[in-house]
Formats: sequence, structure tokens, C-alpha cells
Amino acid sequence: MPSVDRHPDERGPASQQGMRRQNLALVLGAVAARAPLSRADAAAVTGLTRAAVSSLVVELMRDGLVVELGPAPSGRVGRPGNALSLSPTGPAGLGLEVGVGQLAACVVDLSGEVRAQARIAVDNRERPAAAVLAELTGLAEGVVAEARRSGLRPVGATLAVPGLVDDGANTVVRAPNLGWSELRLPGTLLGLPLGVQNEANLGALAELWRGGALDVVHVSAEAGIGAALLVGGRLFRGARGFAGELGHVPVHPDGPACACGSHGCLEQYAGERAVLAAAGLDLPPADRIAALARHAAAGEPRVLAALEQAGTALGTALAGAVNLVDPAAVVLGGAYAELGDWLLPGMRRELAARVRVRPWSDEALSVSALGRRGPLLGAALVTIRRILEDPGAPALLGP
Ligand SMILES: [Zn+2]
Repeated sequence: MPSVDRHPDERGPASQQGMRRQNLALVLGAVAARAPLSRADAAAVTGLTRAAVSSLVVELMRDGLVVELGPAPSGRVGRPGNALSLSPTGPAGLGLEVGVGQLAACVVDLSGEVRAQARIAVDNRERPAAAVLAELTGLAEGVVAEARRSGLRPVGATLAVPGLVDDGANTVVRAPNLGWSELRLPGTLLGLPLGVQNEANLGALAELWRGGALDVVHVSAEAGIGAALLVGGRLFRGARGFAGELGHVPVHPDGPACACGSHGCLEQYAGERAVLAAAGLDLPPADRIAALARHAAAGEPRVLAALEQAGTALGTALAGAVNLVDPAAVVLGGAYAELGDWLLPGMRRELAARVRVRPWSDEALSVSALGRRGPLLGAALVTIRRILEDPGAPALLGP
């Protein structure tokens, strides 16, 4: 599978067919950004001739990517053109997620709207990977069937996992909180090409694709703590693709031993297990964060103190990242978005005290509006982005 954030400039030399593919993407991009719009407006926006746009639109309509909404006033003199829009049916993306305490699946249409979804709370830590994937497949089957009843046709699937991923080899290299290592995934699921990505990366891309900032440190946490770095709107992956292990940034070098072999890592203060221990809570594994949030909302002093300590540790570790990369925004995403009310004060205080690349502004730190849904949505959007970036790619739209 190609990289999820491949840049259009890297598609190679522009043969005539390549040029047509680029123009298909231009027109589809204009429709995606500005629908409803007429062919004349699409021509004006893309700089292509009206005749060229009309010919490209025929192809986009044939592939089920664009529909005509019927006559619409264009604000121009002369015959009103039929307004074009992204098809609410046809090609769609399937997103899948395996979390420590949950499984989820969703289907999004070309405009990125979630059209079918399912999420179940389940403890995945002690189960064989095959059993987890079998249950996930069952969940996906239901969601895909629901989407098909609405006329949608999923053409690709991406799985979000809390761990290190070699997406080129479709392999989960290490997901310690699931007990997975060197797990090679099948190339297809329900007959759809299947890719895999780290959940923090997908959460960050979901925010980006919905109009978020280009330079971002995106934190995603549950059992483990990961971060995604967006630099100029692209994922920064590191030399081997493993960048973003925020959970093992040291907060107190002499602190408690960490499963990674080091001491005083962020996870030992802000990871789910550490927070629950400090809070004196013994909660069932499934949907723990939501339960933790309920205890915090009830004002239990020990829970509030544990979250205060976690927020402080998060802020300390993040200050290092901010000083290093000077992002426009720091976003708290994933399940921990539900804990934002209690984590943010400590995070803000430490960032304000420690960030030195510029005066720290509290507005630069926010909670993801997508929250827990971010990684799943990002996973489903991977397929949609591929279609929008290269609608003429052979075999992209499936059978
Ligand atoms: Zn560690």
C-alpha cells in the first residue's frame, strides 16, 4: 500500500495519461472543496477549459465519484449549469480499530461523513490476535452490510492499532499493550485491500484532513501513550517509521521502572495503569477511560489528584517536544480527550513554565473535537484521501 500521506508531486513524470489523472484529481478536488458547483465554476477554479472539465466529469460520473444535483443558479449570465457534488453513494472507505478495551468499525462516504459504525467494549489484552481479528471482522461485516444497503461500496480498509507499525509490510511490529509483536496482517479483509497504521498517526491525520493545523504534536493515549508529529502537513515518521514514542520520554530519571527497561517514563505517571493505581481505582478493562472520567466528574479527590499528576507529567514531556519542533498546535486526542477537563490545567501550567522557543499560548493546546473517534475516522479516511488524490488510479475503485 502506498504511504497514507503521499504528496501529489511525487507521482512521477507526467505522461499524457498521468496528466489526465492529475486533471481528474484537480476537478474532483474542486468538487470536494466547493460542492455544489457548476462545470463552469469548476473550470474557473481549476484553470482547465470548460470542454476539458466536461470530459473529465463524464469519467468521474462513470466511476460513481460525482453526481449532478440538477439545475442550480450559478450566478452567471446564461443557461444555468447542473451543479456537481460528490456522490453520496458508490466508493467508500472502511475504518477499523483494535484498542486495548474496544473494537470499532465505520464506513465513510466520499465527503468523509460517517454512514455506518459500530463500537464494542471488550478486553483484548489476554486474547490471541486471531480471535481479536475474527471478532473485528464480524463487526466490520455488519457495518459494511449497513453501508451497502445505503448504496455505498467500500473499496479499501485501514486498521488503527496502538503500537509500532511497518505499514509497507502490513505488519504490527510491536503493540505491547495488546501483546502483539511481529504480527503480519492479511492483505485483504472482507475482500478489501487492508492497510495498517498507528492509531495516533491516524488521529492526527483525521484532524489534518478536517482542516486542522499543519505543524502539530498530536497526543493519543489509553493504555500506552503515543504522539504523532505533523510537520508541514506530513507525518514525521523517523528513520524506521517509529517516531512518536512519547510514552517513554523520561519525566523523572529516577522514577519507577517501566516495562521498556528504563525508569520514570511518562507512561509511569500518565498511562492508564499508572493513573488508575494513583487514583486507587480497580475498573474493568473495557471502556476504562469513560469510567475514569465519570469518577473524576463526581469530584473524587484521589482521582482528581491522579489526573493532576498525569497532566503535569504530560505537560513536562510535551514541553520537550514543543521546544524541539515548535509546533503550531498541541492536540490531546484519542480516549484521553475525554479526560481533557482534568488533564489540561497541569499540561498548560508545565508548558507555560517550560516552553522556551516562544511565549507559550494556552490556545495552542486543545482537545481533539474528534476525541476517541479520531483514529477510527482517520483509518476510514485513508481510502477516501487516496481516491480524492488520484481518482484515475487503476484498480483504486475496486470491482
Ligand atoms: Zn518506558
